[in-house]
Amino acid sequence: MGRAFNFSAGPAVMPEAVLQQAATEMLDWHGSGMSVMEMSHRGKEFISIYEQAEADLRELLAVPAHFKILFMQGGGLAENAIVPLNLSQGGAMDFVLTGSWSQKSHKEGGKYGAARVAATAQADGFTTLPSPATWQIGADSRYVHICGNETIHGVEFHELPDLKTLGCDAPLVVDFSSHVASRSVNWSRVGLAFGGAQKNLGPAGLTLVIVREDLIGHAMPHCPSAFDYKLVADNQSMYNTPPTYSIYIAGLVFQWLKKNGGMAAMEQRNIAKAQLLYDFLDNSSLYVNKVAKDCRSRMNVPFFLRDESRNEAFLAGAKAANLLQLKGHKSVGGMRASIYNAMPIEGVQALVAYMREFEKTQA
Ligand SMILES: *Cc1c(COP(=O)(O)O)cnc(C)c1O
Repeated sequence: MGRAFNFSAGPAVMPEAVLQQAATEMLDWHGSGMSVMEMSHRGKEFISIYEQAEADLRELLAVPAHFKILFMQGGGLAENAIVPLNLSQGGAMDFVLTGSWSQKSHKEGGKYGAARVAATAQADGFTTLPSPATWQIGADSRYVHICGNETIHGVEFHELPDLKTLGCDAPLVVDFSSHVASRSVNWSRVGLAFGGAQKNLGPAGLTLVIVREDLIGHAMPHCPSAFDYKLVADNQSMYNTPPTYSIYIAGLVFQWLKKNGGMAAMEQRNIAKAQLLYDFLDNSSLYVNKVAKDCRSRMNVPFFLRDESRNEAFLAGAKAANLLQLKGHKSVGGMRASIYNAMPIEGVQALVAYMREFEKTQA
């Protein structure tokens, strides 16, 4: 069996060209006589890899000069603690609950200060997004947290809220783990964005934090030094050893994204892929997606078979057709197709063709 179409939610599909290049460079990077994973993070070879990756990412996402880009470790879940340790000063925070990931962030935030709920879509089974006009944000809020794309429930903010128009001066914190680099970011609305790399940027082990400079330097005294944004920023993400190999691979992904037209082109491709799949689901009598149309994720598409007794047969047939990792998250059930940047439209076409055939056999 050759390479399959891989619909995993994360760690997830990588661009084949990147894997090929990494394979070519595995034993001897650019005549250095070393693999990247054998290099000192303080040597000139790795510093050049790091600086290129940072510059490419800044250009790709159009990150303004007054934001720092930090390459950290610990994943999205560690940031659920690291963000309040750096931003809350022990005060109150407001969370918008739109699915499993924002719920987790809210729960963890409560260890470090008063974690309030500004709005929740729980009554809708997390198939909608609460309108920002309805959010209850305290005047003393240190920050407002949202999850830009709920990887498990499949809802996505297609526009970031403008907190200023809600009369709120607090910074917006966005968990963009599962849609980072799938679309452009309106940085004027963001204070801090974080995400693990393993959905859309590269291998697990790297966590990206992009933070406005004025929010750095306010960590609580008991914040671990390695997680203090000021120490991380002042040391170019090398206060301690960064995840060097993951940074290198992410850097190759950034170059691949630039070569393929950057965010504007990527966004158009992602819209086309998502539309193909949602249109098929909406016209099917076997499959159903339950998310409100205006907040459906372009990255993670959960769907159900109306006859759930066919789930195992569906997955077995998909696997035989080289369509992998379509099983839904256990908390939601059903199926989920994650269609990140590195999933070509041919993969979505193959999935739809398989689903159409499977539906025919169910009549
Ligand atoms: C995957 C994911 C996380 C958790 O990331 P880890 O790297 O496993 O800590 C957090 N938030 C979102 C939105 C995710 O998709």
